Amino acid sequence: MGGASGVRGKELSQVNHLISKAEICVPVKQGVLNEVDRLTDKIRLIKESCSHDYRFTGPVYLRESLEKGVYILYDASFPSTLRPKHVLKCQKCSEETELNITKTCPHCLGEMKEDKRKGYIYFSTFPYHCVKCGFKGVVNVWDQ
Ligand SMILES: [Zn+2]
Ligand SMILES: [Zn+2]
Repeated sequence: MGGASGVRGKELSQVNHLISKAEICVPVKQGVLNEVDRLTDKIRLIKESCSHDYRFTGPVYLRESLEKGVYILYDASFPSTLRPKHVLKCQKCSEETELNITKTCPHCLGEMKEDKRKGYIYFSTFPYHCVKCGFKGVVNVWDQ
């Protein structure tokens, strides 16, 4: 009996401990900004008003297609989650974004334009070229 009441006493003292903690807890003062709040706000403002200057965070590796000088941008048969991601980072504000490889050239970041689709027996290629540097790439789509 003595042992059981001992446990109960211990549980009660734990509950009491929690209650007293809740009573003394101090809420965050509203409208008071600390240094981190101010910096976070400043960073947000810098990013919002930035005329971004994006660069690659790492090298871009693309496989050359069967056509020399034409690179495979991606293979549409793979789920998009398995496609390599090309991350760009702004030199001015560190904002990061993902390169849309059929819209932006992976070589010079110029504009990519779509060319005439080529259909073969088992697959089609959707060719693109960069209007700025002439880089050529294709998206391959295999027939099921
Ligand atoms: Zn920026
Ligand atoms: Zn280019």
